Amino acid sequence: MADAITLSHGELAVPDEPIVPFIEGDGTGPDIWRASVRVFDAAVEKAFGGDRRIAWKEVLAGQKAFDATGDWLPEETVEAFRDYLIGIKGPLTTPIGGGFRSLNVTLRQLLDLYVCLRPVRWFRGVPSPVKHPESVDMVIFRENTEDVYAGFEVEAGTAEGESLRKHLGDTYGWNIREMSGIGIKPISEAGSKRLIRAAVEYAVSHGRRSLTLVHKGNIMKFTEGAFMRWGYELVREEFSDVAVGWEDCGGDPGGKLLVKDTIADIFLQQVLTRPGEFDVIATMNLNGDYASDALAAQVGGIGIAPGGNINYVTGHAIFEATHGTAPKYANLDKVNPGSVILSGVLMLEHMGWQAAADVIVSALESTIGDKIVTYDFARLTDGATEVKTSQFADAMIERM
Ligand code: NAP
Repeated sequence: MADAITLSHGELAVPDEPIVPFIEGDGTGPDIWRASVRVFDAAVEKAFGGDRRIAWKEVLAGQKAFDATGDWLPEETVEAFRDYLIGIKGPLTTPIGGGFRSLNVTLRQLLDLYVCLRPVRWFRGVPSPVKHPESVDMVIFRENTEDVYAGFEVEAGTAEGESLRKHLGDTYGWNIREMSGIGIKPISEAGSKRLIRAAVEYAVSHGRRSLTLVHKGNIMKFTEGAFMRWGYELVREEFSDVAVGWEDCGGDPGGKLLVKDTIADIFLQQVLTRPGEFDVIATMNLNGDYASDALAAQVGGIGIAPGGNINYVTGHAIFEATHGTAPKYANLDKVNPGSVILSGVLMLEHMGWQAAADVIVSALESTIGDKIVTYDFARLTDGATEVKTSQFADAMIERM
């Protein structure tokens, strides 16, 4: 019988027929979803032979929700993600002037999904701009709730802007030029530590070698610098049996997870010149945004990069495409479903259904390896067979 996934004593309890809410998404979302869900169901069937299946539950958001209910993000949708813990979504249109900054950001905030998880690896056959994309195998933990993205901004020249500027001048002696927009960058100890804790736990449980804290603490000492210090402090306080900071071991972790740090700009150079030295990455919101897309580009994966937004304490998680709705391709059965498919892989791994995740990854590897690809890869690959979104799913299912 279909049932909800629950959290008990900090562990997910996943029934054999979990109810999983999904949002198909706007624009190209429906084409992509139709293809992806067939791949997920076929992989679960292949891995568990009918003993397990996913009971998909459609929930509305974006244009489809607005057309049906007059609401871009109905309360029912948020409740479904709250109740069923784990869900997946396609890309959503950002409503202009709808009172939202973005539906994605709103969902993340409502459920306090503090980790944005972005694994970055290369699949054989994917066209890449670098010589050795196979050396890139990283997992980025990006903080999702703080930093300059928290939304504390005032516009230049407004009464609020002037009042804040004056307050900062009078109270702190900070001389900010007239007609300045001002944003606030909050980085908290609790917010930093829960993100880094999730990254350390992931690195240890997945047998990863190192965790790098990426920051600009040389310039922003009390925000980015503090993030780094809190990271090392956390490792000493909570993980000394399994992990050790660079300074505490002189760079020799002796079998434990090595926790190190690097300045964000140097990091962006080194992931190109020495990608093999990086493994799990923990960083703040803005750095994480830049690093995720820069790294995805390195493996040719901007169109197929997966993502997950997770609260490891409450168990809530929403896995999602990292690209947008690509509206010019809507209903043409044309675009690459890889981002949603690989987000589903992350979801299955998170649920502990590793065997089904593995079936999908190997089917994707052999499909792309056979040069059966959608238009975006076909235009960059010699001798490719260009297929539609639905045909790409067919090719994957045939190879399972
Ligand atoms: P976009 O939808 O990501 O599309 C930009 C370009 O990326 C497309 O023109 C296409 O490139 C390529 N692309 C995107 N998805 C692809 C796929 N599945 N397969 C192959 N190529 C793909 O970005 P946008 O045009 O800036 O944004 C459109 C809408 O999406 C906006 O309303 C935006 O707010 C929203 N958005 C939503 C999310 C989300 O829900 N997570 C994220 C970003 C943006 P070519 O034209 O070169 O083929």
